Amino acid sequence: MAEEKCLFCGIATGKVPAKKVYEDAKTIAFLDINPRNPGHTLVVPKKHYETLLDMPDKEAVNLFASVKKLAGQVMTAMKADGISIGQSNGVAAGQLVQHVHFHVIPRFMNEGPIGLEGILQVKKMDDKMLDQVANAIKKGKMPASKQLTPEKIVRESAMEDEDFDLDI
Ligand code: AMP
Ligand code: ZN
Repeated sequence: MAEEKCLFCGIATGKVPAKKVYEDAKTIAFLDINPRNPGHTLVVPKKHYETLLDMPDKEAVNLFASVKKLAGQVMTAMKADGISIGQSNGVAAGQLVQHVHFHVIPRFMNEGPIGLEGILQVKKMDDKMLDQVANAIKKGKMPASKQLTPEKIVRESAMEDEDFDLDI
């Protein structure tokens, strides 16, 4: 069965580790390992469906309610100026993991290009930063003095020996 070899089924059942930020009876959300921006989150149904088109309407509606919830939580936690939501169905559409998922990607005014081309570059983030971001999304807030922009991530993660601390 496809489920047995599926990476996101593995994350949903806890067999594969992930930086979880949200969970309810039907849905799980966790940080993308190749963040297009700090706080880039994947929202996934626990039950295995390959694409959105395979989901019963009721399940799809439920999943999208979670996507909306996470969009708000990520926006607040990351102090983002906007949110992009992306979703691909099928290899031809660029779907790499064959278990339906929504990308929730925080956007910042200082990114430069405003369109989707502005989020193609993967940002370097170490494990400690990812944990801090995951905690901020779980709690739904980031300290007022902090803002983790993509510019800052690239710059800070390039600095060796510097201990980046968000004080969450
Ligand atoms: P897509 O092209 O929409 O199928 O995107 C799949 C996403 O899953 C990519 O952005 C990957 O970085 C992400 N991804 C792959 N493996 C993992 C993993 N183990 N944990 C978190 N995200 C992952
Ligand atoms: Zn699966």
